[in-house]
Parts: sequence; structure tokens; C-alpha cells
Amino acid sequence: TQPIIAFIGLGHMGGYMAANLVAAGYTVHGFDLMPAALDTAASKGITIAESGEAAAAQADIVLTMLPAGVHVLSAYPALLAAAKPGTLFLDCSTIEVDHALQAAEMAQKAGFEAVDAPVSGGMVGAEAGTLTFMVGGSEAGLERVRPLLEVMGKKVVHCGANSTGQAAKICNNMLLGIAMVGASEAFALGQKLGLENQVLYDVISTSSGYCWAVNVNCPVPGPVPTSPANKDYEPGFATALMAKDMGLALAALETTGVNGELGARTAAIYAELVEEGRGGKDFSDVYNRIAGTIST
Ligand code: NAD
Repeated sequence: TQPIIAFIGLGHMGGYMAANLVAAGYTVHGFDLMPAALDTAASKGITIAESGEAAAAQADIVLTMLPAGVHVLSAYPALLAAAKPGTLFLDCSTIEVDHALQAAEMAQKAGFEAVDAPVSGGMVGAEAGTLTFMVGGSEAGLERVRPLLEVMGKKVVHCGANSTGQAAKICNNMLLGIAMVGASEAFALGQKLGLENQVLYDVISTSSGYCWAVNVNCPVPGPVPTSPANKDYEPGFATALMAKDMGLALAALETTGVNGELGARTAAIYAELVEEGRGGKDFSDVYNRIAGTIST
């Protein structure tokens, strides 16, 4: 028989993910602090609970999809206290590696299995059920949640013990953030040196500088018609979300003592873009800061 799911956090991502579980036949008891999120979830067949604890008390798996580590750590004590023996705690939020470890320890101390499984793929992937899950936890824990993950996503990577899912996610996104700054500097410099964007794209995209930031999400309008630069930098992957993930990477650089100069600098650049009110643009809008052009 299918496990009963408590789904805590029915926001931009969680709303779609929970709806996909319902569509696959799971019973989902959902909770969110925002009434509007509850209304949308109810319309998609999610059973609305009075509280997170009420949802957790009825569940075999408690899935959290919350904004940040503080939300997970502050929600866990009540959820753990309400859960029945044998419940598994699955956190899909993107949070600090240290917070993921703390959450897993809290669950384990209370006698529960814990798995972290942050996602990539954005709202488009959440709606389509094509997310990638990066999983930290035991093999047994992963096997219990794998059927759910395969409903909400299409790729599941077991990264290692608890918190390694978060670790993989922030290492990838740190590289992505750095690569986008690098791609933007290359195009800004190329223009000053007399190169057409299309010419430089034709060279880089087939040479050793090729990367997702150039080949798929090219930060200048023109060469890749589907890139956000052609739609006034409408996301895509918003600068505010990149700034959040770079902040998580920066925290991990600091805890581990890794000399990540580019990671730290890139975190500062994205944080400044958010402060300038540009958090809603695609993260390739960093090109406009570097080139001194302004997108509207
Ligand atoms: P969101 O802010 O839209 O949703 C989070 C929801 O949690 C909100 O509706 C909020 O009301 C609710 N919430 C907060 N505290 C709560 C509590 N104690 N009990 C119940 N509900 C509570 O965020 P999102 O875009 O859905 O992202 C969720 C997580 O996924 C974040 O960690 C984010 O970094 C990560 N993520 C987001 C994307 C994306 O494209 N949006 C992509 C990959 C990963």
C-alpha cells in the first residue's frame, strides 16, 4: 500500500509537487501558513490539515518544502513530536549543509529516518514532474522515498550520507553562478574588442569555453533565441534564487575553509543585484551590470 504523505510548504514548488503526488494516487495531507496556497492545493485534491502537526500525525512520510533552513529547523520539533513511530522525514527545501545535518540529527534523535533531497528544475520541472533530486541519506531511506521522487521528478542521484544532497546542489549552483559571471565578462569584453555577439558565441559555444551559461542561457540577446536575454531577462532562474544559493555556498566555503575566492565574489555580486531591486530578473541579467547596460 502507498504511504500517506504529509506535505508541509505548498508554495511555488511544493504546490505542484504535492499535486503530482495526488495525481499519482497518493493521499496527501497538506499544510501551509498562507491561506491562498491552501486554497490552490485543495483545488488540486490535497487534503488540507489544520496544522503541520495534524498532517504529520497521519503520515508515513513527512515532506517539507520550505523557503530556508530556519523554517525547516523551526518546524521540525513540532512535526517530530506529532509523528507516529516509523515515519520518515524527507526535506526537499534548499538549505545550508549544516542545517540539513542538524535537521537529520533532530529526526534521528527522535527515532526517525531522515533524508535530504533538494531539487533542481524550477517551477517548470515541478509542474511537469521532471525535477532532479539530489539525495542525502541511507540507502534504506532512499528506497522508501524513491517512488515519490520518481513521481515528482525524472532523475534521482544518491549523493551519500545525510546533507550530501544539499552539498551537491550548492556546489553545482555555485559553479553555475560563477560561470554566468564569467560568460558575461567574456561577452562584455568581446564587444569592446570589436566582436559581434554572434561571432563570439559561434566560437565559444564550439570551443573550450562552452558551458550551459553560454550555450543554453546566453546572457546577451541574439545567439540563443530561447535564452532569457531575449525576453528582457525574464526568468528562467531568478537572481534572487541564485543569490540565496550563492549565500548557502558562501556559508559552506566559510565552514570548510575552502579558498573559494570566485564563489565569495560571485555571492557578493548577486547579493548586490538583489539590493538594487533586480532580484526578479533572470540571473543572466548580471551581464547588464558588467557591460554597463541597463535592462528595463
Ligand atoms: P515558496 O516561498 O514559494 O514556498 C514555501 C512555502 O512554505 C510558502 O508558501 C510558505 O508560506 C510556506 N511555509 C513557510 N513556513 C512554513 C511553516 N512553518 N509551515 C507551513 N508552511 C510554511 O518557495 P518555493 O519557490 O516553493 O521554494 C521552496 C524551496 O525550494 C526553497 O528552499 C527553494 O530554494 C527551493 N527551490 C526553489 C526553486 C524555484 O524555482 N522556486 C527551484 C529549486 C529549489
